[in-house]
Amino acid sequence: MRAPWRENMFNQGQWEGPILDQHMHLDRNNRYLSAISEFINSGGTAINLVHKPNFSDLPLTISDYQLAYDDTIDMAREIREKFGIKVSVILGPHPVSWEKQVHTIGLQESTFLHLQAVKLAIKYISSGEAVCLGEVGRPHYPVSLEIWDAANDLLLEIMKLAAEAKISIQLHVEDDGEKTYSDLAKLCDMASLPRHLAIRHYAPANIDSEFTHGLSVTVSVGKDSISKIVESLPNCNSYWGMETDYLDDKNRPGAVLGPKTIPKRTNQLIEKLGESGYSKEEINDIVENIHSNWPQILYS
Ligand SMILES: [Zn+2]
Repeated sequence: MRAPWRENMFNQGQWEGPILDQHMHLDRNNRYLSAISEFINSGGTAINLVHKPNFSDLPLTISDYQLAYDDTIDMAREIREKFGIKVSVILGPHPVSWEKQVHTIGLQESTFLHLQAVKLAIKYISSGEAVCLGEVGRPHYPVSLEIWDAANDLLLEIMKLAAEAKISIQLHVEDDGEKTYSDLAKLCDMASLPRHLAIRHYAPANIDSEFTHGLSVTVSVGKDSISKIVESLPNCNSYWGMETDYLDDKNRPGAVLGPKTIPKRTNQLIEKLGESGYSKEEINDIVENIHSNWPQILYS
């Protein structure tokens, strides 16, 4: 129940509250600031800026990682100064980088570098320059059994480090329906990482907690996602939100969702909830929760 004296964030039916994209990459050599302009002009107010790995030139030392992390932090600062929006930084080594490097520098060396990069990211989070470890996880494509087992051992180790540091992680994982979530929930429990601090990124639109096993999710809000979200919403008692996974990559235009998507889907969500019988107050609470209240719990 909301306090009756609080104003809601609608102005003549239009949402004027927070709108957060929980997973966005940016690239100085591509659209960069113009993508942010587009996001803001559509109604966006905040982003999580996630470290963008350079898969064609992967880091070989921890100082390579440091340079890449520092650059992400610089971009965030530049965006805040230029546009005055809230930018939260997410840092971590990508699981695909690890898998690729298993074949070039070997399993042991790749794993060692990866864990060093995790620990460095945790340092940045502890100092307040970043808010979450990510994207970490495991390969989303088929790999040999040996690599799969090693990936799971590594993810467990990463989760233990996150649990120790009391921070959240954004997970990049395969899409194998409920099995993916039940696997991840087991790993969380083994690592003593509270499930809600494991945020599955690029999540499908089913937010039913029986499906997600209590993990937090940021839904990749493609075309049909809103009706699926609203369908599963009554059985959801965990944290969820929205993301584009915008890649800012000129070689892969349209591979993921564009910068206008989250404002657009937020308005579609509001409309769909209204049609489904939710009151204005309830809608206000839901949208404020996903775009502001819950992110404050998950990313700090
Ligand atoms: Zn991503």
